[in-house]
Amino acid sequence: MQAVVIEAPTVVRMSDLPEPRPAIAEVVVDVSLTGVCGTDLHMLDGDFATARFPIVPGHEVTGTVVATGAEVTSPQPGDRVVVDPGVPCLTCLLCRRGRPNLCEHRNAVGITLNGGAADRVVVPARNCHVLPDSVTFSAAVLAEPLACVLHAFEMVPRTAGRRVLIYGAGTIGLLAVQVARHLGAYTVDAVDLDTQRLSVAEKLGADEVFAPDSLSRQDDWDLVVDASGAPAAIADGLARLQRGGTFLQLGVAPGDAVVPLSPYQVFARELSIIGSMTTRHTFPGALRMLENDMIDAESIVEKPVPLSDYAKAVDMVRERDSLKVVVSPGV
Ligand SMILES: [Zn+2]
Ligand SMILES: [Zn+2]
Repeated sequence: MQAVVIEAPTVVRMSDLPEPRPAIAEVVVDVSLTGVCGTDLHMLDGDFATARFPIVPGHEVTGTVVATGAEVTSPQPGDRVVVDPGVPCLTCLLCRRGRPNLCEHRNAVGITLNGGAADRVVVPARNCHVLPDSVTFSAAVLAEPLACVLHAFEMVPRTAGRRVLIYGAGTIGLLAVQVARHLGAYTVDAVDLDTQRLSVAEKLGADEVFAPDSLSRQDDWDLVVDASGAPAAIADGLARLQRGGTFLQLGVAPGDAVVPLSPYQVFARELSIIGSMTTRHTFPGALRMLENDMIDAESIVEKPVPLSDYAKAVDMVRERDSLKVVVSPGV
C-alpha cells in the first residue's frame, strides 16, 4: 500500500509499505480522509520532541474498518470510524489518575505509531469510534481537533458569562469560537493576522475580530485562549487578562519558545495559566456535537488533496491560506 513516510526531520517520501495486518485487539482502517495540521509540520521540521522516525504521519484519521483481530467484537468490518490517536499505557500513575493524555509511556497514532497518511492504517480496536450515520467523513475528520477543544474547555473553571478572546482563527481557533458560544460565553472575540480567517470566525459566531495591532491596551478579557502557538500572540494574550482571569494554552508552540511573564501580575491579579494537551475521553462528545450539527464543519474543511500530493497539503498548511487541510487516498 502507498504511504507517506517521514524518514527523518525534513525528509519525506511516498513509500510502498506492506499491507498492515491486525494483531489480536487491533483493526485495519481503510483511510477515507486524514487531516494535516500544525503538529504534522512541527514533526516535519523536527521540533516535536515526542515524534519517532521513520513514521507515517496522520493523527486525524477517518475511514472504514476492513479487517479485525481475533478478539475484536467492535468495531466490525464495514463500520465507518474515526480514530482517537492516543494510545496510553493504562498502568502508569497518570493513567490511573484518569489522565491518559499525560501518560508517561504514551504512544500516539501518527506521532509514534504509523498514522493515517496512507491507504490503510492499523490501530487498537478501542481507539475507534463508530460514526453516526449522519456524520460524513468530511465532518468526522474534525472530531480529533474538536475533541482537543472540548478537553481544553473542560480544563477551564467556567466559560458561561465570561468575555473570551481567542488567538488564532485556524481550525482549532474556529472550533473554539463555536464551543465557547455553546458554553454560554458572554462575548467571544478572535485575533488573527489573516482577514479571511477573521471573516470565517465572524460567520461562526465571533462578536468582534481583531488584527493583532488593532487591540488596545485597555481591553481586557476573563478568558484568553491561545490557539495559535505563536510566542508573540501568547505574550500579548497574557497581558490582556482581566483580574482573576484565566489563560488557556491550547496551541502547540515550538519546544524551545519562551515568553515573558510577570510573576507580580500573576500574584496581584490572581491570574490562572492552564495547559491543555490533546484529548481526554472527549471523542464521544465531539461526535455528538457533529451529529447534532452544533459545529459548522463545511466552513472549515477544505476539498481533499490526493494522498500522493502530500507535499502540496503541507504547503497549504504552511501558507495559512486554507483552513482544515485533508488528504485522501481516494481522490
Ligand atoms: Zn492535529
Ligand atoms: Zn500511562
